[in-house]
Amino acid sequence: MAEILYRSTRSENEEFSPSSALLKGLAPDGGLFVPTVMPTFADIAANMAAEGLTDGAGESTAKTLENLTKLGYKDVAYQVLRVFLTDYTAEEIRDCVEKAYDSKFDTPEIAPVVSKDGKYYLELFHGATIAFKDMALSILPHLMTAAARKNGVKDEIVILTATSGDTGKAALAGFADVPGTKIIVFYPKHGVSPVQEKQMVTQRGENVKVVGIEGNFDDAQNGVKAMFSDRMLEALLADKGYRFSSANSINIGRLVPQIAYYIWAYLRLAASGAICIGDEINVTVPTGNFGNILAGYYAKRMGLPIRTLVCASNENKVLYDFFGSGTYNKNREFKLTSSPSMDILISSNLERLIFESVGSGAKRCDELMTALKGGGKYTLTPAEMSRFSCFASGWTDEEGTAREIERVYKNSGYIIDTHTAVASAVAKEYAAGEGAGIPMLVVSTASPYKFTRSVLTSIDAKYADMEDFALADELSALSGVPVPPAIESLRTAPVLHDTVCGVSNMRDAVLEFLN
Ligand SMILES: *Cc1c(COP(=O)(O)O)cnc(C)c1O
Repeated sequence: MAEILYRSTRSENEEFSPSSALLKGLAPDGGLFVPTVMPTFADIAANMAAEGLTDGAGESTAKTLENLTKLGYKDVAYQVLRVFLTDYTAEEIRDCVEKAYDSKFDTPEIAPVVSKDGKYYLELFHGATIAFKDMALSILPHLMTAAARKNGVKDEIVILTATSGDTGKAALAGFADVPGTKIIVFYPKHGVSPVQEKQMVTQRGENVKVVGIEGNFDDAQNGVKAMFSDRMLEALLADKGYRFSSANSINIGRLVPQIAYYIWAYLRLAASGAICIGDEINVTVPTGNFGNILAGYYAKRMGLPIRTLVCASNENKVLYDFFGSGTYNKNREFKLTSSPSMDILISSNLERLIFESVGSGAKRCDELMTALKGGGKYTLTPAEMSRFSCFASGWTDEEGTAREIERVYKNSGYIIDTHTAVASAVAKEYAAGEGAGIPMLVVSTASPYKFTRSVLTSIDAKYADMEDFALADELSALSGVPVPPAIESLRTAPVLHDTVCGVSNMRDAVLEFLN
């Protein structure tokens, strides 16, 4: 099959192998890596035929989808990763998939699709930290260590992450005890929820370190950025056989595994008889950094029959305004909402979509991103915006989010989290108008157990005074869904990390851990 190479969104010249793009994370010019050619279902068909899974290559997309319907999650993910990461061997991809999608997930289906309230919900929260980032962060460490081996990198990989709560725990869970890696997570000591803090400071693993910062998330983030560009630190660590890497959502190693579950969800809808293969579906995604929905767009570009991707925002509706007006403008008040993982004003992964809309013009993309960095905004031409016709957008406020949780519960007994509720409210409105008659898939990004307080008080104010673990029991009684192990185990888990440091001592904390 054809080799897929990656290039930057900001300059034309260089091409990178998939594994080197994955190791680098960001392109040398600061741009994001994008595939030079989008793989298709014909590539998957060719691989399946070569492996003797089907009897011929060159099959239609419909026939390939039909063949894929018979496979489990791991095998679907394997087929998708194969066509994007073409310099990995079949054995390497297989090994990564086996290590990622195992009993860390609480269901063998990995990502179930459930039919509720006239829509379909794709549950991406059955992994170690009960939120969708587990889907990619459980495989990224394995893709990274395989990439290091392939590229002759002997150094141990040290992941540095600043977190406002969720990503840190998902990265810790993904990298814990993965040979050849270490991970250090910095979080604002007084800026995460008690449950989030407990999740992190109880993390097991010989290679993990969690440090609280006397400062806010921005301080932690800036401290990590400073270490990434500290050449003296780099040299010091290289001497000891370490090199820094990052696990953030712009890495293709996080993007590609997310494409798999869009295809998987389509296959489940077909297998259950909800759709026939070839039928179009609409998909609504609760969006922050634009990584999840971009993976859906890539699945569509591969040939998956998705008609419209509906981008759902909370009160930080910078993306909604962009799709409506053509102007991306981050100069606005930052709002803290009940869907904190979507409280983002710079959606980094949008750059990949912008790159395509401007006719794969890196120069124009670079110009726009420079404008964003300088004045905090940019505007696309109507011709450029016209390429986004497969996107729709919507948003809902705090009240709308709460009312959607209540409505879905009263209608169907199904309890959704706050992020999913934003998407669900937007999906409901879209399905009642333009999207009428087309099956709607709502991407469900977190378990309600992750945001118990916001979820339960949306249903009844009486929950406001209860403490966190009592709320988990109440949620279980109300929904009939057992408290997931990720929460249950926190009740008794010992605290293993108690380091707290000032912003100026982050570098010392890293050196101390690595010595
Ligand atoms: C990260 C996250 C999102 C946003 O996903 P993006 O890829 O950043 O758009 C939505 N919901 C939850 C629960 C998340 O953790």
